[in-house]
Amino acid sequence: MPDDTGPDDVAPEAARLDALYRYDVLDSAPEESFDRITRLAQIAVQTPMVLISLVDRDRQWFKSRIGQDATEGPRSTSFCTHAIQRDTPLVVRDALADPKFHDHPAVLGEPFVRFYAGVPLHTPGGYNIGTLCAVDFAPRDISPIQLAVLQDLARLVVDELELRRLATTDSLTGAMTRRAFAADAAREVARARRSGGPLACIVFDIDHFKSINDRFGHAAGDRVLQAVTRVCRENLRAVDLLGRMGGEEFAIALPEAPLAEAVGVAERLRLAVADTGVADGAGEIRMTASFGVSELAPGDETFADTVRRADDAAYEAKRGGRNRTVTAS
Ligand code: GH3
Ligand code: MG
Ligand code: MG
Repeated sequence: MPDDTGPDDVAPEAARLDALYRYDVLDSAPEESFDRITRLAQIAVQTPMVLISLVDRDRQWFKSRIGQDATEGPRSTSFCTHAIQRDTPLVVRDALADPKFHDHPAVLGEPFVRFYAGVPLHTPGGYNIGTLCAVDFAPRDISPIQLAVLQDLARLVVDELELRRLATTDSLTGAMTRRAFAADAAREVARARRSGGPLACIVFDIDHFKSINDRFGHAAGDRVLQAVTRVCRENLRAVDLLGRMGGEEFAIALPEAPLAEAVGVAERLRLAVADTGVADGAGEIRMTASFGVSELAPGDETFADTVRRADDAAYEAKRGGRNRTVTAS
């Protein structure tokens, strides 16, 4: 099952936004792989404006843009918000002659759209997160071949987003990969250095995990890893970063959190993990973890230095008897 299918009880628009946010692409820098796609689309369709438009809650934001200076615009006046309501391309040959669009603000005012062809960016989970669209300021046609090319290029946009997400997300737990964690933590280090605010780190390692595997099997061990990750998500803020650093070892970066606050978070996580049971046949698997906490220090070159101190503290917690939290000195 594609992993951007949301739970059934979530409103469709909220689930759609979740699917969009999972790509972590909004407000990112321009990238050649996406600009290449809009260039090819322009060659195929020959319009002055081509956009990869991602439809956020109240705005459309452009991952790549040709013939458009602004990086975003209001959703309320966008054609793309109409295009994502459907699963087939939206083609408007002459907006002024179209009963639905003749008095649209983007037709009567800037950028004076007359022609629009937008192909929904359809995720594997079934959500339309935006469009690849071609815009002209005079009425015109689009041939079936041109439209087919635009559709294939729209699929390439989603493929590119998917590949990036897969490279940054651990498939078993949904936590960040080690590498993605390092990259995002580096941004948090830069931000903390600019603002002078704190940045804390928690490292934890599941206790006696090998014996969980030995007793209950590898698949059950996997479910324990998923359960522990879920406990983390439930107890962390949206801004916190969770990375899987190795088999059963995780690191957390807590922006703006002083050391004492991070110790409190670690204790909350420790108790929540110890309080969690994973169903296994008739019985239940119980687990604990050992935690180490540190904070970014002026001498740290990268966040890996901060992680190392938390890791040493977690090792102290193991030596001290496990299922405890140790703060780095
Ligand atoms: P300690 O309390 O000292 O941390 O002991 P431990 O048994 O947790 O540590 P150890 O490093 O000896 O064993 C970790 C085990 O985790 C060994 C490895 O087979 C298992 N492991 C690593 N990755 C995975 C995974 O993705 N799934 C499962 N089920 N097991 C994994
Ligand atoms: Mg362990
Ligand atoms: Mg370990």
